[in-house]
Amino acid sequence: MGMEIVDKQFTKIVATVGPASSSYEVLKDLVRAGVNLFRLNFSHGTHADHNRVIDHILAINKECKTHVGILADLQGPKLRVGKMKGEGLLIKPGDVLTFVQEECIGDQDRIYMSYEGFAKDVVPGERVLVDDGKIVLEVQSTNQVDEVKLKVMFGGLLQSNKGVNLPDTSVTLPSLTVKDKEDLDFILTKEVNWIALSFVRSPDDLVDLRERIETRNHPAKIIAKIEKPEAVKQIDQIIRQSNGIMIARGDLAVEVPMEGLPIIQKDIINLCIQWARPVIVATQMMESMITNPTPTRAEITDVANAVLDGADALMLSGETAVGMHPTKVINAMNAIISEVEKRYSIQGRRPFPSPKSSTFLSDAVCFNAAKLAEEVGAKAIVGMTTSGYTAFKVSSFRPACKIYIFSEQTMMLATLNLVWGVHGYYYNKFTTTDDTINDSMNILKEHGRVKEGDVIINTASMPLHARQRTNMLKVSVVD
Ligand code: PEP
Repeated sequence: MGMEIVDKQFTKIVATVGPASSSYEVLKDLVRAGVNLFRLNFSHGTHADHNRVIDHILAINKECKTHVGILADLQGPKLRVGKMKGEGLLIKPGDVLTFVQEECIGDQDRIYMSYEGFAKDVVPGERVLVDDGKIVLEVQSTNQVDEVKLKVMFGGLLQSNKGVNLPDTSVTLPSLTVKDKEDLDFILTKEVNWIALSFVRSPDDLVDLRERIETRNHPAKIIAKIEKPEAVKQIDQIIRQSNGIMIARGDLAVEVPMEGLPIIQKDIINLCIQWARPVIVATQMMESMITNPTPTRAEITDVANAVLDGADALMLSGETAVGMHPTKVINAMNAIISEVEKRYSIQGRRPFPSPKSSTFLSDAVCFNAAKLAEEVGAKAIVGMTTSGYTAFKVSSFRPACKIYIFSEQTMMLATLNLVWGVHGYYYNKFTTTDDTINDSMNILKEHGRVKEGDVIINTASMPLHARQRTNMLKVSVVD
């Protein structure tokens, strides 16, 4: 049967790969510990590095018969200062800095800023935040061409290549940079399940990315990273235009007033559940475990609260990419998730699908699968999918039991591994509905997912060969 994999939880875990976790052995340990999806951060590493990691993950899936997914995270229009002289420049309140558009080694006279149009877009009085908001500057004046004077409001050591956030400025950069396009050219030659776009500002930002994916006939789905105040304002439309959402709390908490973050997280999760889009809560979930062997009390509670909010997945960044204890982090996160899920259920907010929707009939079947499962104490909802639709939809009704999805599309099974409560099985013998239902029951029994006497709910589409949307429910007892 191969190795034991921890996959009993509803809430999924996304782990960022980096130097601490890019070897075959560590990736496999992380899969064994319960990682459902690996994130490749295209802000770091070469294509050769990412290629090696992708090959490892696909080989681990073969070896361990898992469906661990891959998320490629595009850097997007991330702003940075250039290289600084020596260890950096120590600045204090009242100092005046000059940001220029010409590349140079930064010092007290000139600092390069990687944003063509910076001088045109900023207005005196606007804030410029450097290094996750640790340094606060204010625009004093701009020559509207290539030079901006900034007054230091809160100082510190300004180091090379630190990120810059402009919470007050309407940034005119395109959503896909030259680097993103090059990265995308590489990503679209690979078996990548999800592509995330950083710094999404409006639903239109996703159009170019979607066209590029579709032109290449690639099945990857799009995740919009929410980290700009403009995106929070248009969240409803962005959710509808994307296939999934990441609440990228790192940049988001610098860009919006920090006290707004908890409610933004809850609101976005609720909307994503309503629109059946998987939602990832990201950044600093177990940050202290980059160096420490155990999380802080605040981190334990943050992870637990994200589970209670109903997130599909929780993400680790530095903890697994550069941290000292990548496997311990997954074990700790899993322990928190499973304890919370044992004691609290997040069911009960299950809005009935809209009769106005073009998918209403199928949505109503999925809704009732979740409702019926609760009423009859079912151990599993079992469905078939080609497009993944049934899995996304049934999951969005947050049933009280696991959702086992059978598909002949291995890529789709790995894509669905991000989705709350969904576990996939490869199956390609679609003969008759009766046979398929029997086969799926036997496979689940073999894997110890259900046992004799358990009630299960099957969703299906009849006739089977027509491959239409889900239109049928069946209640069975495992024999
Ligand atoms: C974030 O800002 O929270 C985030 C996930 O983005 P990145 O790690 O790509 O900067």
